[in-house]
Amino acid sequence: MGLLSGFGVTLRQIGRPKVTERYPKEKRPKSVRFHGRHVLNRYEDGMEKCIGCELCAGVCPARCIYVRGADNPVDAPVSPGERYGFVYEINYLRCIHCDLCVEACPTEAITETKLFEFSFTNREDAIYTKDELLVDDDGRARRQPWELWLGDEDEHTSAWMRATAPSGQAVYEGRVGWSGELGFGVRAPEVGQSASGTERALTDPPPAEPVGVVDTEHDSHAGGH
Ligand code: SF4
Ligand code: SF4
Repeated sequence: MGLLSGFGVTLRQIGRPKVTERYPKEKRPKSVRFHGRHVLNRYEDGMEKCIGCELCAGVCPARCIYVRGADNPVDAPVSPGERYGFVYEINYLRCIHCDLCVEACPTEAITETKLFEFSFTNREDAIYTKDELLVDDDGRARRQPWELWLGDEDEHTSAWMRATAPSGQAVYEGRVGWSGELGFGVRAPEVGQSASGTERALTDPPPAEPVGVVDTEHDSHAGGH
């Protein structure tokens, strides 16, 4: 009897829709607040957003960020302001993806992608260097050989869209590539962010969320500096 009842369970399941995911060939969409591997962002003019302040390293509970700041070369500044992140490393053998570094960063230099499919066979790969963390000229994460990216999933990186550099070229005046927590796009300038008189009043309703908005105009500028 027990045997027949066991077969009954099997037969009842045969006609039901399959819920098995073809992971990792197919991935389910990540939660909007998912914390994956980090990126170091840049401004539209190519300058790095990190100013080497070390706040991220100071707040990290796992002590897995190593930052060294350095004075910007006068003739070829790397970031707006006085200093930039000369050395930047994250040890992913220790990171707990709490996102406190992202919260602490005053310039939104460090944010997180939704990627967690990265594993290592040696300690060296687990320690991401600045070259590996810094986004490319299109503002996108540099894909490492040991990472499993599928399609355009990097588009859901928090704040991969680079905000306008305060010391950027005049063509960007009034354009605030404000990075929402999610997605990418361009928002209208907010109060105090533009001299063009197009600022939003504080009482205005908030601008629409930029999730999924492709900024083709911005793309034409990206990496051209
Ligand atoms: S996510 Fe948390 S543990 Fe990981 S580097 Fe940032 S602060 Fe440290
Ligand atoms: S990533 Fe942000 S918090 Fe960390 S050193 Fe750079 S500017 Fe400072």
